[in-house]
Amino acid sequence: MMSKKLDTKKLALSFILLSILNAIFSNLTVKTNRYLADVFLLIGSGFLFIGIFFAIFMVISLFKESQNQLLKSDLKSSYNKNVNNPLILQLKISFILQLTGLSYSGLVSTYIVWILHITDITSIDLIISFTLSFLLEIMTAILILPRLDPFRETRPGEIRIIKLHNFQGGITMGVLTLSRHSPFKSIIFMGDEDDSITRTIEAHELGHATEHHPIFLELSIIFLLSISYPLIWFGYIMHREVISTFLVIKTVLIILSVVIAILLFMRVAESRADAFAYKVIGKSAYENLVEALRRAYGENIKSAEDAPLWSKITHTSSRNAIKTGDPLSSIGIWEFPVVLSFIASTIAITRFNSIYIIYPLFFIGSLVISFLIGLVFLPFVRKYYRMTERGSLNFSFLLAGIYMISSIIALDAYPNLYLVISLFLTGIILAFIITKAFLDLHNSTKVVVATLLIYLSIIILISLIKILPHGG
Ligand SMILES: [Zn+2]
Repeated sequence: MMSKKLDTKKLALSFILLSILNAIFSNLTVKTNRYLADVFLLIGSGFLFIGIFFAIFMVISLFKESQNQLLKSDLKSSYNKNVNNPLILQLKISFILQLTGLSYSGLVSTYIVWILHITDITSIDLIISFTLSFLLEIMTAILILPRLDPFRETRPGEIRIIKLHNFQGGITMGVLTLSRHSPFKSIIFMGDEDDSITRTIEAHELGHATEHHPIFLELSIIFLLSISYPLIWFGYIMHREVISTFLVIKTVLIILSVVIAILLFMRVAESRADAFAYKVIGKSAYENLVEALRRAYGENIKSAEDAPLWSKITHTSSRNAIKTGDPLSSIGIWEFPVVLSFIASTIAITRFNSIYIIYPLFFIGSLVISFLIGLVFLPFVRKYYRMTERGSLNFSFLLAGIYMISSIIALDAYPNLYLVISLFLTGIILAFIITKAFLDLHNSTKVVVATLLIYLSIIILISLIKILPHGG
């Protein structure tokens, strides 16, 4: 308890210190570069917000602790049915995220418009508001969510299993927390029956919990909220006409990209949990899953394909991963190319001032390119991936898509070569981290090095073909 308080105090102080530093920078640059000064001022105010927040939190937690001493004796009896209702918990979490997202982005937008008197909203203003709302909301989520029941009684790093009577299926929930032991708290809600079906569900949910899928989901939902709400606020405060339609279309495209990326992430995460269940339970896992679906959705379910639409959208319809143990075997071959090309063309379009014709062109172009590059990768990826053919193909498309997106982001920084190189390196590190989730260290290194060399040679070849006719 003592160390936690100290951490909050340090955090509050360092954020306030950072805001003072930014204020100084802002003052230093105000004469030479008005714009940079504004940026410093904005970032500084963001840090100040966070610092004040931590300070308030520190006071609250001091006050609460003295109260808790009194309550400790009847803590157990306060456990009621609502506490262990996963649905109510989920509603509470989403309500808190929505409310904080709405209020933080409101604060940031009104600050930009009314206090800084910025009358023409540019991409930079939007990016600053997105970043500030995102940081503030994550801070709040870290501070509030782990204090909700029953996360409060869950130790950091623990995967707590709560068995409920008459509960079908399973739900894994996780939150980020501020602790030295572990930044995660996880809870699995599931039925209390003792049979092979329940054990299969437990194995699937343990797959989610050990890989922290709910945390990634929490972060991506916060990200989605912090890019959507500032736009709504700006539109509301500034009566729309000052924000160009073009900026709105761009932001809508970005929001759409994030939504489909989250959906694909969910499908991969569910397939990974299925593959995990296969490794624990073995061959009977699929039959047990179908029986679990039958219990949840009715007698007429004969295979995983008969599950309700929403379940098929989030969990894939074939659920092949629980039959093969290969997490990428249940993802359709068009999924990675389509989603990653959509993201790539959205990023590419941010540099242009017209969308209408260029966007579909970009999309189809990157779709074809990532598909072809993925096919070239396949023989090498297959050698190391060593699971199903579908899995190898999907993995090749995933890598091709990541390289393509990294190059587009890196090219945005042109002509600053250092920035281009460091952005592309970040992309390679990301590709490596993702590969590490599917293969061991040794094979990951080989796959990333091999595919990267192929990718770079293709790029160099294309540039040569483009340069040569012009006489170099
Ligand atoms: Zn699941």
